[in-house]
Amino acid sequence: MNTKTVGVIGAGTMGAGIALVCARKGHEVKLLDANQAVLEKANGYLQSTLSRDVEKGKISEEQKQQTLGQVDFVSDMERLASCDIVIEAVPERLDLKKTIFSELSRICRCDALLLTNTSSISITEIAGGLPHPERILGFHFFNPAPVMPLVEVIQGKKSSEENMQTAYRFAEELGKVPVRVTDTPGFIVNRIARPYYNEALRIHGDHVADVAKIDRIMKLAGGFKMGPFELQDMIGIDINFATTQSVYNDFFQEGRFKPSRIQQRMVQAGSLGRKTGEGFYDYN
Ligand code: NAD
Repeated sequence: MNTKTVGVIGAGTMGAGIALVCARKGHEVKLLDANQAVLEKANGYLQSTLSRDVEKGKISEEQKQQTLGQVDFVSDMERLASCDIVIEAVPERLDLKKTIFSELSRICRCDALLLTNTSSISITEIAGGLPHPERILGFHFFNPAPVMPLVEVIQGKKSSEENMQTAYRFAEELGKVPVRVTDTPGFIVNRIARPYYNEALRIHGDHVADVAKIDRIMKLAGGFKMGPFELQDMIGIDINFATTQSVYNDFFQEGRFKPSRIQQRMVQAGSLGRKTGEGFYDYN
């Protein structure tokens, strides 16, 4: 396998995990975030995860140090100029992603692959109006990125077939199971997952059952590993809400995808789940 220089933009829930996946496979990683505290937290996450691997005998101390040495923590986009591949993982907002991709289009070589980890935003729209849209693709990991095998490789209207194949192979080289998807709202997984969250929120809002009971039932009867509220807390209520809004709008506001007021109020209150210590459950 060719080792590559991989830029990861956003070192939050997904970016830190994606950086770990790439570094473990020997790639040089430049992990970028606008917030220094997030970069420090991501560094701590990498250190503790790899230390656990050493304790479990999965890797040696030397391999741990080598993997850590593959990751450079950066805060300046210009540092991504040498990247062969960039994976964007900033919050689920079209304006933010368009700004990032416009900057990347200026900074990166025109043969570099520019990938977005968006959960739901149209790849075609992110790439719209930018030079070399053929190299802009969706590359959607699942949470937690080091554990979940699936990666959706999403072809925007102007993403080239050659780049789709390169991205697909890259996902395989990372040890993931890629699936090709065309650019449709929510792609495959998040489209299927919307009713799981939305209906649970409606049941909760209608006072049919409380959050813990709904989670318990879905695990006991449905065989799900996590209930819909535990999952929302892990994903981040802001990210989950933004994804539902995006799918709803992209489906021309079909009622079945209508976002929930309960989630909206939680986002407004800053109760975003595990990452803020409080969501549907209390983590403090
Ligand atoms: P997050 O809020 O945990 O992290 C986003 C990070 O981006 C933050 O650390 C923030 O400081 C940083 N950031 C914001 N603006 C930036 C900028 N201009 N430049 C550099 N860094 C910037 O979000 P997340 O949960 O990691 O989600 C990131 C993306 O991944 C979203 O598009 C989301 O839809 C997608 N995604 C999330 C999940 C999940 O379960 N959370 C799963 C799959 C995909």
